[in-house]
Amino acid sequence: MKNGGSNPPAPGNRCVEPPGGANCRPGGFVFPPPMAVILPLAAAGAAVGAWAYGTYEPNSRIFGPVVGRGRRDSRLAYLTFDDGPNPDATDRILETLATASVPAAFFMVGEHVRRFPDIARRVANAGHEIGNHTLRHRKLHFQGPRRIREELERTHEIIGATTGRTAKSFRAPHGYRNPFVTIAARRLGYAVFGWTFGVWDSDPGVSAEDIRRRVQRKLRPGAIVLLHDGDGYDPEGDRRRTAAALPGIIADAQAAGYTFRPLAELVPFQPRRS
Ligand SMILES: [Zn+2]
Repeated sequence: MKNGGSNPPAPGNRCVEPPGGANCRPGGFVFPPPMAVILPLAAAGAAVGAWAYGTYEPNSRIFGPVVGRGRRDSRLAYLTFDDGPNPDATDRILETLATASVPAAFFMVGEHVRRFPDIARRVANAGHEIGNHTLRHRKLHFQGPRRIREELERTHEIIGATTGRTAKSFRAPHGYRNPFVTIAARRLGYAVFGWTFGVWDSDPGVSAEDIRRRVQRKLRPGAIVLLHDGDGYDPEGDRRRTAAALPGIIADAQAAGYTFRPLAELVPFQPRRS
């Protein structure tokens, strides 16, 4: 029978035409990919996908429990500030929070706490929550257990020695995690936090008005709002635009019926104190 070209040759038949078609080899036989090859590749692809999701999605539970938002049934929201303390932004933010009687959580970088201990103490004295955000703001997803433990435990010690507070929460830089992060956080009794939305307030091209508008647009019941009072890598990084946006952010949210609450109330399990 003449091969008409529109019907592919049955597996095992000689390839007549088109020459060099997808399933033809120079020898002229058809080699469909066997399921024995496809299935393991698909499984490996799914495993890589799951691993990537666990690593890069800040609220993924693949590597352990993480709190990414509060309840959706009431207009409560949670302010969080990462990468401080910072000499130009943190105090301004504290003033705004005090004026509005609004609580917040500050996920601090250990080296920045060491550099600006007085600012860290003022955050603690104002009653805000202080969380661990690693020692040097390293991306943890490709780090091994020893380095991850060091990043978390040294920061835990620095926060404790500087502020007199025991940190109880952790947020990974960029949200990047792996199973060793979960183990190290658990050893310290931490609740691990992600976030509901950020507004790219650390982008130098974003104005204070942009930051305010973006938060207003994205705010939803139960949201954990990610903002930055510092720069994870540059201790003197400029976050004055976030500080300038904050009075408007709070005013907009309150006008829409929101109340800001302490992040700690989202921790599902509080270890018993002896
Ligand atoms: Zn950060």
